[in-house]
Amino acid sequence: MSSKNDLRPHLLVMLAMTIASASACTAQAPSPASTEAPPTWGMVIHTGAGNFTLESLGDRQAEMRSAMTEALMAGHKVLASGGSSLDAVQAALVVLEDSPQFNAGKGAVFTHEGTNELDAAIMDGRTMMAGAVAGVTHVKNPIRLARLVMDRSPHVLMAGEGAEAFGREQGGVEFVPASYFHTDLRWQQLQRALEEEKANKGAALRPRSDDPAQGTYFGTVGAVALDQAGNLSAATSTGGLTNKRFGRVGDSPIIGAGTYASNGSCAISATGTGEYFIRFTVAKDICARVEYRGMTAQAAADAVIQGVLKSAGGDGGVVGLDRRGAVVMSFNTTGMGRGYIGQDGQPSISFTVDR
Ligand code: ASP
Repeated sequence: MSSKNDLRPHLLVMLAMTIASASACTAQAPSPASTEAPPTWGMVIHTGAGNFTLESLGDRQAEMRSAMTEALMAGHKVLASGGSSLDAVQAALVVLEDSPQFNAGKGAVFTHEGTNELDAAIMDGRTMMAGAVAGVTHVKNPIRLARLVMDRSPHVLMAGEGAEAFGREQGGVEFVPASYFHTDLRWQQLQRALEEEKANKGAALRPRSDDPAQGTYFGTVGAVALDQAGNLSAATSTGGLTNKRFGRVGDSPIIGAGTYASNGSCAISATGTGEYFIRFTVAKDICARVEYRGMTAQAAADAVIQGVLKSAGGDGGVVGLDRRGAVVMSFNTTGMGRGYIGQDGQPSISFTVDR
């Protein structure tokens, strides 16, 4: 779905941002500070792309909206008080990880073996530092552990038991029994995937996130923010894909694929079939088009999501912000849970093209 339609509900805000973005991205020489509007700080979140309708979300929609509102407000609180975009995206993701509605933290999807293996990443566009974890199984909020990897280690990505050992050593990470992540919704999704796999041997290794009753809904969560100091950050957290096997890791914790931020261009968080986002380095490709080609971030996102990715058969979407605070939303599925909060503190949330 073209992102242009997405912008309709928030036309005035988005229009102002698009104009600000266009002037920032096309101007080769910096315009005099006095004539350039200051960047608009704010935050954009997503809660997964997919082929679903609003109706197919059923009763879940109200709970999703309420958790998304809470996440947006948590990020806004940080930004409004002059806090960093890094703290804002982390605060928002902790709320979404704690909600059983999304495929991250509590509510993560199950692996083939009936376990939950969680991935998360965070990136600071000011310093280009990043931290990520993959395949952790007892960490309540993987995004907090990813932040520790960035802040307190020389590494970028830690996996499995090693990542958890690092968290225990550092302290301040909440560990939970594996059963904490169990939700019936996700368990039933796995059972259906296993049955289908049994009935159709060819589908054995095909990663799935489909729920026939509810359409296809990935449910990964992500956030990008621009703070008052003009710094961009991005963060993404996920349980991956239902029925994943063999330690499969998706795009979310891969810097440049599902998560990327650079003050020189934009901040992006992705959702969709991770293998495509990894192979096409989606988040970095979008930001590179902004930086090297002078494209607006929205145009760059559309070129990658509606063009490159779609032609390759990859489904999903991204949210982002450019360095002026222009909002980016693009998805090639029928829906993507997403929300924006700006300086006025008024959250706006939608799931399909116009609702
Ligand atoms: N991108 C995630 C992955 O492939 C899935 C999602 O977006 O829900 O692990």
